[in-house]
Amino acid sequence: MKLNNLNDLLIHELQDIYSAENQITKALPKMIKAASSDKLKQAFEQHLQETEQQIQRLESVFELVGEKAKGEKCKAMEGIIKEAESMMSEKADQSVMDAALIACAQRVEHYEIAAYGTVSTYAKQLGLKDVMKQLVQTLEEEKKTDALLTKIAEQTVNKQAE
Ligand code: FE
Ligand code: FE
Ligand code: FE
Repeated sequence: MKLNNLNDLLIHELQDIYSAENQITKALPKMIKAASSDKLKQAFEQHLQETEQQIQRLESVFELVGEKAKGEKCKAMEGIIKEAESMMSEKADQSVMDAALIACAQRVEHYEIAAYGTVSTYAKQLGLKDVMKQLVQTLEEEKKTDALLTKIAEQTVNKQAE
């Protein structure tokens, strides 16, 4: 698809993040299983639920802009998840594995923060207020998740791993 304008780029980026979110819903259950810390498991479980809502939110965004949700595969998220999977296959002490899982999960969140930050800015520029609102809502959830992971790492997991 030729990208002629910012609207085309917005659709392209939305399809990428839609693919990314779908990949994340498949990876998170494995990360929940691999985690030992209750706090970390809980954070992953909560974010899995949020991620499912984020996918629905994206589907409503696609309806608003009259485009299909599918089209792009997010190869970056595929790579980030591959790294997480190879980390989960390592032999590691429980708390060290928890620390490693946080490291992987924060890579996911940072990618999402970049992606949602970008698309919400495009939506704003294009005057798509309802679209922008939904994207900003998800952006805030990703930021909160990232901050929660930092907190769990600093207050619990990293100390135990040390
Ligand atoms: Fe997400
Ligand atoms: Fe991508
Ligand atoms: Fe996320």
